[in-house]
Amino acid sequence: MPLKALIIASHNAGKVREIDALLAPFSFSVRSASELNIIEPEETGSTFAQNAALKAEHCALAAGAAALADDSGLEVAALNGAPGIYSARWAGPDQDFAIAMARIEDKLAQVDAGNPPDRRANFICALALAIPGQKTQIFEGRIDGTLCWPPRGTRGFGYDPVFQPLGFDQTFAQMDQDKKHAMSHRAEAFEKLLAAKPWD
Ligand code: IMP
Repeated sequence: MPLKALIIASHNAGKVREIDALLAPFSFSVRSASELNIIEPEETGSTFAQNAALKAEHCALAAGAAALADDSGLEVAALNGAPGIYSARWAGPDQDFAIAMARIEDKLAQVDAGNPPDRRANFICALALAIPGQKTQIFEGRIDGTLCWPPRGTRGFGYDPVFQPLGFDQTFAQMDQDKKHAMSHRAEAFEKLLAAKPWD
C-alpha cells in the first residue's frame, strides 16, 4: 500500500525544515517527532547509518507509522573526521554552534594541518526510512568543501557558516537556501531515497 503519512524523526528544527522542503512536492502528511512528543533515543551507534536507523526505528515503533530519520555531521580531514557523529555534541547542551565552530578552529590550530593548512571538510547525511514490518532502508549523501574562518552568513543551521562547498565562493549560510537544498549531502541522500521508490 503506498505510504500516505511520514513522521520526521527529529527534534532539530533546521533539519525538519530542510526535510519538509525536500518532501514538499509529495502529497504526504508530514509530522515531526516533536509534534508527537516522541523523545529521541540515545545515539549509541558508531556510524551515521546506525544512528539514523536507531532514530527511525524508535520513532516508527512509538508512532506505529513510517518514520524518516536523518543522522548527519561534519567531518574535518585534518581532525581525522571529527566531529563526525559527534557534530551535535560539540555544540554542548545549549546547541551553541558558535562554540562548536570555534572548537574546530582551535583544534585545527593545535594539530599540524600543514602549510598551507589542510582545511578540507565534508558533510555526510544518512537517511533511514523505517516502515513498520519492513527492513529499514538507508540512503547516504556527501558534499565536499573547505572550512572558512571567521564564519560567514546567517542562513541555514549548525556548521553552515564555516562550510564552503567546492566550486562556490559562498558558505552554506550565505547562499540562497534553495541552492543549498539542491546540492547538499541531505539532497543527495534524498535523491537516492526517491530513486528507490520505497513508498510505492
Ligand atoms: P545529529 O544528526 O542529530 O546527530 O546532528 C548532526 C549535527 O550535524 C547537526 O546538529 C548539525 O550541527 C550538523 N549538521 C548536519 N547537517 C548539517 C547541515 O546541513 N548544515 C550544517 N550543519 C549540519
